[in-house]
Amino acid sequence: MYDVIIVGAGIAGSYTAGKLAGQGLRVCVLEKNAHAGHKSSCTGIVSRDCFELLPVDTRIVQWQARSAKIFSPSGKYIRVERETTQAYILDRPALDLSIAKQAEASGAEFHFSTYVSGIHKDAKSVRVQGSDKNGQVSFESKVVVIASGFGTSFTKALGLGQINEYAQGAQVEVVNKDIEEVEVYSGTDIAPGFFAWLVPAGAGRAKAGLLCRNNPGPYIKILLEHLQQQGKIEAVRSNISYGAVPLKPLARTYADRLIVIGDAAGQVKPTTGGGIYFGLLCARIAVGTICDTIKNNNFSARNLSVYQKKWHEMLKRELAIDYWAHKFYRKLSDRQIEHIFDIIEHHSIHESLLASPDITFDWHSNVILDAIKHRSLDKSLGKLNLRLASHSNNSKRR
Ligand SMILES: Cc1cc2nc3c(=O)[nH]c(=O)nc-3n(C[C@H](O)[C@H](O)[C@H](O)COP(=O)(O)OP(=O)(O)OC[C@H]3O[C@@H](n4cnc5c(N)ncnc54)[C@H](O)[C@@H]3O)c2cc1C
Repeated sequence: MYDVIIVGAGIAGSYTAGKLAGQGLRVCVLEKNAHAGHKSSCTGIVSRDCFELLPVDTRIVQWQARSAKIFSPSGKYIRVERETTQAYILDRPALDLSIAKQAEASGAEFHFSTYVSGIHKDAKSVRVQGSDKNGQVSFESKVVVIASGFGTSFTKALGLGQINEYAQGAQVEVVNKDIEEVEVYSGTDIAPGFFAWLVPAGAGRAKAGLLCRNNPGPYIKILLEHLQQQGKIEAVRSNISYGAVPLKPLARTYADRLIVIGDAAGQVKPTTGGGIYFGLLCARIAVGTICDTIKNNNFSARNLSVYQKKWHEMLKRELAIDYWAHKFYRKLSDRQIEHIFDIIEHHSIHESLLASPDITFDWHSNVILDAIKHRSLDKSLGKLNLRLASHSNNSKRR
């Protein structure tokens, strides 16, 4: 009998495993892949705050970014820069591997090549069933943590529902010519409803990728053609990796003997698709809640609901405003995006926003509300019949 079984050795699962094992709990992680570190679709961009949370060494840092160029559909760009590093670009597979190894060193037991097919709870324990290379396997614990990423079937099977709003993405490693800052591209022919990127990853390497509503396959090919035509990349170095991110949180992330974390819980910024930082912040809350329930020997949904209460206090408003901004953006035509670029550039709105302490890599709601309040932006968008201010008032009321 384990104290905790964690399904999934992604960043959220392994991080949680390490923290729980560090508290002296008996922890088991079940992962369908043969080892940790499979998420090559992820760019691995994280803020300084997130990087400082990670117990990893600097060898996994591929690039440090303090500036970015944001391109309009027609190719105009706005450049944003700060004096200090704003984001770290990490080798994502190496990050997951490193966190899993540290969790193992703290005492967590990892079972790789173990596919979980069912989770069954009763009054006394949780039984997790699946298969490994030798056949059927079964594990028992007091609590189970679902950290099996976006699209997991367990939340629906266990009565917690599922997330239906998501974006799909693709990424590939490329040979970089001399791009030395992050580039972000908008436009319906490259990344409808989201954006594409070219991100330096050190030593002539870069990651080119995009998120869009669905079917990213044709768009990544168009992106690569554009980048090659513009002389920004020389060649493609890897196969294309595909992935998806949730854009809304799961309504309920706990039940008797059960907690859901990371992408499985929808703890992702809808503005950028970044999920590492919020997943880790929520994992820390999950660790505290689980330790308390084990101490009290009370694994009821009521006791575990503290987890959701706390992570909602931290993130619910942020995710709701970010989702609203994402939905607003994805309805814009290229002409409207172009128009917004012109207003931002003409009034140097990006510079005043950059000077504001509200603008951070991770927390976007305040900057969204600040932008909305910018009179010239609001007035011009009013002409396009895009109603920003009314949302700003509603958000304040909430
Ligand atoms: C194109 C793209 C780019 C991104 N770029 C960034 C970025 O730059 N920065 C950022 O912060 N976020 C980024 N993200 C989001 C980020 O990748 C996720 O938020 C993060 O990986 C979530 O971690 P997780 O541990 O919750 O889930 P995952 O990393 O998906 O891990 C889930 C694990 O569970 C395992 N698993 C699933 N089902 C089972 C099963 N039945 N049995 C056993 N094991 C199972 C999987 O194999 C996997 O190892 C990006 C996402 C995409 C798609």
